[in-house]
Amino acid sequence: MLKIIAPLGGWCAPLEEVPDPVFAGRMLGDGLAIDPTGGIVSAPCDGEVVTLPASAHAVSIRSPQGIDVLIHIGIDTVQLAGRGFEARVKAGDRVKAGDELIRFDLDTVARGAKSLMSAIVVTSEGVTLQKRRAAGAVGAGDLLFEVVVDTPRQAAPLSAPAADAAAGECQRTVMVTLRQGLHARPAALLARRAKSCGAQISLAAHGRTADARSVVAIMALGVRQGDELLVRAVGHEAAQAVAGAMDALEEAQRMETAHESVPAPEPRLADRVQRPGELAGVCAVPGFALGRAARIERREIEVTEQGLGGEHERTELDRARANVRLRLERVRNAGGAARHEIIAAHLEFLDDPTLNEAAHEFISAGKSAAYAWRSAIRRSIAALESLGDSRLRERADDLLDVEAHVLLALAGEARPMHLPLPEQAVLVADDLLPSELTALDGRRLVAIALSGGGATSHVAILAAAMEIPMLIGVGAALRDVADGQTLIIDADQGKVHFAPTAEELAKARSTVDARLARRAALRAAAAKECHSLDGTRIEIFANLGSVTDAMAAVAGGAEGCGLLRTEFLFLDRETAPTEEEQLQAYQSIANALGGRPLILRMMDVGGDKPLRYLPLPEEANPALGLRGVRTALLHPSLMRTQLRAALRVQPFGVVRLLIPMVTDRWEILAVRAVIDELAGELKLEGRVALGAMIETPGAALTAAVLIHAVDFLSVGSNDLTQYTLAMDRGHSELARRTDALHPAVLQLIASAGTAGDAAGKLVAVCGGVAADHTAVPILLGLGIRELSVVPAAIPQLKRQIGRLRIEECRELARRCLSLGSANEVRSLVEKAVGDEGDQR
Ligand code: PEP
Ligand code: MG
Repeated sequence: MLKIIAPLGGWCAPLEEVPDPVFAGRMLGDGLAIDPTGGIVSAPCDGEVVTLPASAHAVSIRSPQGIDVLIHIGIDTVQLAGRGFEARVKAGDRVKAGDELIRFDLDTVARGAKSLMSAIVVTSEGVTLQKRRAAGAVGAGDLLFEVVVDTPRQAAPLSAPAADAAAGECQRTVMVTLRQGLHARPAALLARRAKSCGAQISLAAHGRTADARSVVAIMALGVRQGDELLVRAVGHEAAQAVAGAMDALEEAQRMETAHESVPAPEPRLADRVQRPGELAGVCAVPGFALGRAARIERREIEVTEQGLGGEHERTELDRARANVRLRLERVRNAGGAARHEIIAAHLEFLDDPTLNEAAHEFISAGKSAAYAWRSAIRRSIAALESLGDSRLRERADDLLDVEAHVLLALAGEARPMHLPLPEQAVLVADDLLPSELTALDGRRLVAIALSGGGATSHVAILAAAMEIPMLIGVGAALRDVADGQTLIIDADQGKVHFAPTAEELAKARSTVDARLARRAALRAAAAKECHSLDGTRIEIFANLGSVTDAMAAVAGGAEGCGLLRTEFLFLDRETAPTEEEQLQAYQSIANALGGRPLILRMMDVGGDKPLRYLPLPEEANPALGLRGVRTALLHPSLMRTQLRAALRVQPFGVVRLLIPMVTDRWEILAVRAVIDELAGELKLEGRVALGAMIETPGAALTAAVLIHAVDFLSVGSNDLTQYTLAMDRGHSELARRTDALHPAVLQLIASAGTAGDAAGKLVAVCGGVAADHTAVPILLGLGIRELSVVPAAIPQLKRQIGRLRIEECRELARRCLSLGSANEVRSLVEKAVGDEGDQR
């Protein structure tokens, strides 16, 4: 038993009264709070000072039994960066109960902090607190509580991550730019990150707080586009945890951008004036189709309320969830990127802590696993519906989908993976769940019409990805449509024709044929090599992060991969990928590309892309520290493993290597030397092509020299813009101004383009600016001959380039270089060539 005495005098209160969910929710452990009346913090027990950060706003002591006690002075005091605090001991010092640890100036801290309420928390696990002091006045040195260890344990530290808790506290506020706010997919990405890091991450918005591990809790924050979101991490590697959450938001943004070029499921209200034989609905996916009604009815799965005992029901629920998980994981990669992401979100729901805790509460109250799971899901749906945000309400479908999967698994049935459909089927239903759509044969399905439904629901996103016209909100009258009845679905006009005349049918047939021919022509055009109007060859490649992306990219007309962000393949791991694992990943992407070039970028880790299995030192300015090739050269064995895997991809020659974050020639030569050595070991015949990324101003300005050490250059405009304009690429306030069309960035791209021209070597752009239609003529004018973009942008990009003349682009670029801001560049281009965006 360990006695903990008050480290401060003041007013003792339960932890719930601390205005911080991390402490109030006992995420760091159990304890008490003190609202202090003095500025001296003394040791709560005998022990060793384990952590005392430079900001001296917190301290943790490890008792001789190995129990860790954290004292956190005030709330948000880490932001004071030490102002008002003075450490009287240092990490490693041995102290006696009552010894002075920290002094602080009550006034300074009170002015700078959100609250003075200080938490005294036992961060070790496997302990129980007893003889807890009641709320009221407390003097320094009075008994606060006693700690009893639950199970006998050795004197070793009880919980390693908790030892860092005081040192780790980090928060960041971002403006959410996602068009649909924090809906299920971004929430799932955030939750996945939060579960995989050592720190406790919480999110706060609109005065509500959510545990970032729970998708349901994140969605219940009701965060919309433009809202501020506070991301806060406490504990082990808190800064990395916050950076990870930011990455997840960025990734969600990238996914959203990728989806934007897929027919956007923007709801369009139909003209509600109907003619006889017509029903009106809302267009969720545009298009036109002719087919026969195929009804699917969903049956409510029956559940018994009473359980057969807590242990039995909990085991049943775990077993059912495990079965569903296995099944979903098996089908996750069987479709395109949209399906992959939606199933990933469903997997997160399956393991959601809020849902599972609620289900366990119902089981403890005597209910069956099925009843408990359904009740937990319905409770979350009610919470989403109460937010009054239609987009979040639509996420209820996903929850219902996961509910049905688990209930069927509990009943010993699997969800059928393939539902029969007649040819030319128009699916007619009240509602449709994502898994119901993916279970249908997309080749037989020509359209969907729903009585209810949501325009931004996942099922609409899936239908858009499958290019199936979809109408929603047709109303109860749709129920009168009989199975097999001939239907014309004019989703563009929001109309269902259920009693077409012979003349209308003939017209519909010719409309369908004409549309099919047009679509085939667009596909064929995108599949062709890209040339400008005057015949200059411009390669249009895709930026990839997975094999699913690769398949979608090729189908959409990608001529190769201009940037494989290899770090994405191996982010969520505890250990470094082996050579064989990497080879398998690269080979499957090369196979999906079917012999097209694969530009494989060496892992770009460090800075904003931390890896758990590669601990890097804390840096004051990570963006200016160990990143890209700098990290690779510091960890030669990691680099050699990756390069060996890349060099073994068959057939030899499809892989070209790309070095990230190059600053000078020495870095290129160092990598080249390793490649040559490995090529010798592997007895390779040819020489692998090697490129350097131009993403630092230093590399851009010396491009004419660097180019002689490589075979090609590729401009990373995202980083080049950040480093040229001295604006963090992830800074929400500066987002509008971090514009690659700033003439300073254009001058640096011009330097690379000119170097390429002079040396007769290719210069590409693989940063985000390559997909910006305003930038495209300038980039071609600056000598760029390869653009690598998100796969969805490819057809539009090819069409735009086919209408440009290089000589005119040169003249335009020349004029842009002499301007004074990105805005001036944008207006000049838009005046000169019109807004290509209008033609989308
Ligand atoms: C870039 O910086 O433009 C780039 C393509 O690399 P990343 O976005 O992966 O840093
Ligand atoms: Mg970069």
